[in-house]
Amino acid sequence: MNAALSAPSNRWFILYRGPLSSCNYACGYCPFAKTKNTRAELDYDAACLSRFTDWVATRSEQIGILFTPWGEAMHHLHYQEAMRRLSHLPNVWRVAAQTNLSFAPDKLQDCHRDSTALWTTYHPTETTIPRFIAKSLSLSEIGIRHSVGVVGRKEAFEDIRSLRAKLPPEIYLWINAWKREVDYYNHEEMAELRDIDPYFDFNAHPHPSLGLACRSGHLAFTVDGQGDMRRCHFIKDIISNIYEPGFENALRPRTCSISQCRCHIGYVHLNHLKMDTIFGESLLERIPTKWEMP
Ligand code: SF4
Ligand code: SF4
Repeated sequence: MNAALSAPSNRWFILYRGPLSSCNYACGYCPFAKTKNTRAELDYDAACLSRFTDWVATRSEQIGILFTPWGEAMHHLHYQEAMRRLSHLPNVWRVAAQTNLSFAPDKLQDCHRDSTALWTTYHPTETTIPRFIAKSLSLSEIGIRHSVGVVGRKEAFEDIRSLRAKLPPEIYLWINAWKREVDYYNHEEMAELRDIDPYFDFNAHPHPSLGLACRSGHLAFTVDGQGDMRRCHFIKDIISNIYEPGFENALRPRTCSISQCRCHIGYVHLNHLKMDTIFGESLLERIPTKWEMP
């Protein structure tokens, strides 16, 4: 076992995904579009989140959290309140959320600015560029750091160009490659996307991962509404439960057990990619440390 990897660490990356499954948008490329949760389901989701937040407050580890909901979470009051509370905890170095940015940015007014961040995504069929940019500017005005991203479908190229032209240069615009079709982009398209997002190549191809050292299952792990822990969102085996005594024993240096890792929230933990050198403390919200628009 690699001695460096087995060194004890009290700095964790937690991806939280509760039972919430609804979204107010209806993106054609998404399986969660147009699903609705009942009041009782939302109340259960809120109870799970509250339990998780209470648990974080009791821990001595330094914890970074990214909410990765199945649907859209941030327009629900219980997520806004959880962000606020977590952001002020002394052991929380980051609380971030993936969001379509349909909520009012001033709902995060009372969050601690040093620890709060957002991973925002523009969805072309569900909003407009002026409306989305206005939200991004409002976030910046109140001091909430955020990245902006788009799914790189070819029909979104005009919007991607327009977003890059209109967003302030200090906002990083990432592009998630469309990987459901092989060789989807030609050379010119790859070059253009790379010009807009210099880290596009990391996302453009799945990363071979079988047998390679990955922080997931050691310093990074996922937690669901019941507290069940998994290494990552892509390996379904439950390794423990955060509400059970001794759950920490499940955390140890590991290698990946599947052939490929395709998603930023996973491959950033592959040791050999050294993604910390690009994203540093902002790995969870996907903002390069030294972002300068090319
Ligand atoms: S905003 Fe996100 S979760 Fe909602 S429909 Fe679009 S892709 Fe799916
Ligand atoms: S490489 Fe990806 S799939 Fe494998 S353990 Fe790490 S995050 Fe999970």
